[in-house]
Amino acid sequence: MIWNKERETMPRKALRELQLEGLKWTVNRVWDHVPYYRAKMEAIGLKPKHIVSLDDLSKLPFMTKQDFRDNYPFNNFAVPKEQLIRIHASSGTTGKPTVVGYTRHDLDMWTELMARIVTQAGVTSDDIAQNCFTYGLFTGSFGLHYGMERIGAAIVPVSGGNTDKQLMLMEDFGTTALIATPFYALYLAERAAELGIDITKRLKLRVGLFGSEPWTEEMRTQIEQTLHLTATDNYGMSELIGPGVSGECECFCGMHIAEDHFLPETIDTETGEVLNVGEQGELVFTSLDKEALPVIRYRTKDISVLDDTPCACGRTHTRMRKISGRTDDMLIIRGINVFPSQIESALLGISGVGPYYQINIYRKNYLDELEVLVEFTDETLLDNFKKLDELTQTARERLYNVLGINVKLRLVEPHTLERTTQGKSKKVFDKRNDPQ
Ligand code: ADP
Ligand code: ZN
Repeated sequence: MIWNKERETMPRKALRELQLEGLKWTVNRVWDHVPYYRAKMEAIGLKPKHIVSLDDLSKLPFMTKQDFRDNYPFNNFAVPKEQLIRIHASSGTTGKPTVVGYTRHDLDMWTELMARIVTQAGVTSDDIAQNCFTYGLFTGSFGLHYGMERIGAAIVPVSGGNTDKQLMLMEDFGTTALIATPFYALYLAERAAELGIDITKRLKLRVGLFGSEPWTEEMRTQIEQTLHLTATDNYGMSELIGPGVSGECECFCGMHIAEDHFLPETIDTETGEVLNVGEQGELVFTSLDKEALPVIRYRTKDISVLDDTPCACGRTHTRMRKISGRTDDMLIIRGINVFPSQIESALLGISGVGPYYQINIYRKNYLDELEVLVEFTDETLLDNFKKLDELTQTARERLYNVLGINVKLRLVEPHTLERTTQGKSKKVFDKRNDPQ
């Protein structure tokens, strides 16, 4: 089923006209209300009147996550505070999170987009949808929540964690649709097996909506086989709106981008050159009708390929291939963004450890485990087990405070970690795709 036939199957020509109108509106809005971006335009002698066709998009300067940080918390908003009705923030990459705001129009648009996503995934008003995304500043949970409500599905806002209870409710309520990160979905299956729950007999799951972190096709197969449901992918990020930017249809040949609200491009990360459709590059999006937080050429750092060939489902919107990685080194651990530099600065602030460290990421029980090895500096600690233990505890707490997740911290003897003598040092060893 198609939620908004008029928009989702719009002929490309009409869609392009709508996009141009939205682009001009957005550029004018930003010029008038977002000083930092106006300054970027002025610096290259660009004015809103120079944007007359969609081809002019490439003249506009990029926005990056740094722009959000520099304008923390509200300076990139294009509306006065009284027009905001919701504020979210992303999990926080450095010290300060990325803050995003919504007007009533923005929230309504987001909800409509989510209604599309869940509908194209196959959810209907008959479904009972259990939301395992953590409710809070994170956009994911609220996006799916309101989208489900809009189509008339019954949303169960269980939030994250509490796996045994999740399973109990899933059985008792007869949950049919599951919202989770892909790795949590696998863990649910494993825990069910441990508890002796025969999923085919006792659960009624039939469709899963997974996203917020990268996951492979192999993972999809595994989820489908263990949870006995159809696993669908959907994508988004808080800077743009949250989830709702793109999602899979019943053809499973990429995620349709809500092109009537977001203009996609792929660029060469190094040069910033716009790539042809079909070429792999960094995704860049421009919002077309967002009021509170218009974004122009926002560089996502996510790597994908655009595909505008016709889709058998009838939707005309361009599709994007599953995200294959990120241009930077950001690690997503159980859906939380972690930068190696955060770990480094946290460790280096503790006297008695470092500066040599190593980050290992592996998967245990289908969940990501972050292990940090760091050298302690005082050799005499080798004979003082209590002190060593205290130091480990201090470092672990500090990492938890900075990252918001538990880290498996191991203090290792001085001079045991590898030193790099040439070129860049490799500190991150991501072993999540190694066989378990
Ligand atoms: P958070 O909501 O985790 O604080 P952000 O909005 O900062 O999130 O996270 C958005 C990022 O999450 C995207 O840029 C992308 O890297 C990743 N992401 C979201 N959904 C998917 C998906 N379906 N596949 C791959 N990566 C995804
Ligand atoms: Zn389709």
